[in-house]
Amino acid sequence: MKERKITLSEKEIPKKWYNIQADMPNPMQPPLNPQTKKPAGPDDLSAIFPMSLIEQEVSSERWIDIPEEVLDIYSLWRPSPLYRAYNLEKALGTPARIYYKHEGVSPAGSHKPNTAVAQAYYNKQAGVKRLSTETGAGQWGCSLALGCNYFGLECSVYMVKVSFHQKPYRKSLMQVWGADVYASPTDMTNSGRDVLAKNPDSLGSLGIAISEAVEDAAGRDDTNYSLGSVLNHVMLHQTIIGLECQKQFKLVDDYPDYVIGCCGGGSNFAGISFPFIYDKITKDKNIRAIGIEPKACPTLTKGAFTYDFGDVAGYTPLMMMYTLGHDFMPNGIHAGGLRYHGESPLVSQLYKDGLIEARAYGQEGVFEAALTFARTEGILPAPETAHAIKGAIDVALECKEAAEEKTILFNLSGHGHFDLTAYDDYLAGKIQDIEYPKGLIDQSIASLEKLL
Ligand SMILES: *Cc1c(COP(=O)(O)O)cnc(C)c1O
Repeated sequence: MKERKITLSEKEIPKKWYNIQADMPNPMQPPLNPQTKKPAGPDDLSAIFPMSLIEQEVSSERWIDIPEEVLDIYSLWRPSPLYRAYNLEKALGTPARIYYKHEGVSPAGSHKPNTAVAQAYYNKQAGVKRLSTETGAGQWGCSLALGCNYFGLECSVYMVKVSFHQKPYRKSLMQVWGADVYASPTDMTNSGRDVLAKNPDSLGSLGIAISEAVEDAAGRDDTNYSLGSVLNHVMLHQTIIGLECQKQFKLVDDYPDYVIGCCGGGSNFAGISFPFIYDKITKDKNIRAIGIEPKACPTLTKGAFTYDFGDVAGYTPLMMMYTLGHDFMPNGIHAGGLRYHGESPLVSQLYKDGLIEARAYGQEGVFEAALTFARTEGILPAPETAHAIKGAIDVALECKEAAEEKTILFNLSGHGHFDLTAYDDYLAGKIQDIEYPKGLIDQSIASLEKLL
């Protein structure tokens, strides 16, 4: 009998995260203080982050110990299984071997608890009582609510309004784990009120919700802010995914030629690919890492590599990254987790240096890929994840064309059980490709020149 699932025992969970800052050919540009525009020091961040996470943010240590308490919670669902997608391979008629890492097995249904649990732990250690955050599709809000629940912290979540209405059950799940959830923009913060004054019907965006959550944390002594993607320490925590994959590939004596993940802020892509990029940099492994984004929010493929704010109001440090401009307002596509104007500075620098590639796809092809996957492998993916699946299917079909037996690994970043409205729309023929007009992107990017 062929083995579909490649599993590790709990004892084999990696005990350290991998920090790619130790190995990058070109170091990153420092974040800048939003007022002075000078490099931001620890003091610029300590109002809203614990020192342990600030240290991880700037660390150049290659391996960072995972605390026992975090490993203990990880073991509730980790190590996650690596699957060989035999059914999908057969349906595509490809000679390629396709594997997927199933991060949808976590209690929140995605990869995000890998960092949520760690962030809740470090904040608890620092004596913080409450965390504030933003969420798009609700995956991050659920994950942080879960993390806070494990460590007895309060949690307040600013949820992008379009998703708040599209995904009411994600809100319920956050409430089950004890969080307070608000539809952003709210009238509770200055940044929320500013947006509503200009546009009372604003659908919200991750950038706006981040401004609100940062304002909440900055205004209270007992509260810190927590971000589910983009920052270096988030990428660090997610490397547990790729490190497990490396052990799993050893068990079947295989190794990926392609590592594929969808890209919102970049964390699940970083998590699965960075340990392999380490092999590429230090052991000359010839892997291709490909980040997949929506055509409606094409940060890497159409954005500019420049300093920009992480939020709309300009409260966060300026980060050197690929960005569409912090005013960029993507359409209300269903992959809410991919509607962010920027991209992790780490992923951005590696893209700039040619160590990773990117592709952008329209929604129709993405949902078609999701159904192909659900009808072969059985698992219903999140719409974000479906971008990675579309990427993997395309590469597998390229292998078929070229009659090449390559090995493809993609990150199944989450399941789609809370995204059935999107699937209803697709099945009813209501999902169309949305491509953002290039002129508007250029305009949004041009406005960044005034920032520095
Ligand atoms: C949040 C989310 C993403 C996008 O975020 P990244 O930081 O780019 O990983 C992708 N897939 C799922 C399932 C998500 O919940």
